[in-house]
Amino acid sequence: MPSKHIKASDFPLLQTCLTDNKEWAERVSHENPGFFANSAKGQSPFLLWIGCADSRVPESVVLGRKPGEIFVHRNIANQFHHNDDSANAVLTYAVKNLGVQHVAIVGHTACGGCLAAHGAPKPDPKESESTALSRFLSPLIELRHSLPEGATIDDLIIANVKKTVQTVCESEVIQENWKTAKETGKQPVYVHGWLKDLSTGLIKDLDFSEGPDF
Ligand SMILES: [Zn+2]
Repeated sequence: MPSKHIKASDFPLLQTCLTDNKEWAERVSHENPGFFANSAKGQSPFLLWIGCADSRVPESVVLGRKPGEIFVHRNIANQFHHNDDSANAVLTYAVKNLGVQHVAIVGHTACGGCLAAHGAPKPDPKESESTALSRFLSPLIELRHSLPEGATIDDLIIANVKKTVQTVCESEVIQENWKTAKETGKQPVYVHGWLKDLSTGLIKDLDFSEGPDF
């Protein structure tokens, strides 16, 4: 079906968002004159946040950070797949161009992606997966079936954060960063695993942090 031009201004909720944005920008400019002029010159985030697309886990809001401090990749259930060009491109740019010092993999309680994967049967390799969503969830379903019988959704959520920490550490970008750090003495990138509890708003360090072994 072809598309046709419409007006965003016909939708009151979107208009409210734009009005709120104007008020926010005016408030920030008032409190910190020059903030946006400096921001327009460039960014130097210290952290790459790989989190879930869930609307309840907005990284800069929940960490109390300003624009420019956190580089972000969010997808269904905070996953990192070696064949995912989008995730790999973000990691590459964050590490090589922006020089982030830390990567945080952030899961959250009641994650819809993990809930779906927890209840799904093991994928049949003979059946071709039919949607982008089912293909993207497939590794999560595999992970669910690798856990012991009786594993809960919370077990899967935590196992998924742990697995993503490992997958990011095994990526070409991080491996190359660690090799360079060893050769040059530069500070390497560190990878961490966190969990946000939606019922309290608090983020817990899962103690899955990894750095190079040298
Ligand atoms: Zn989620």
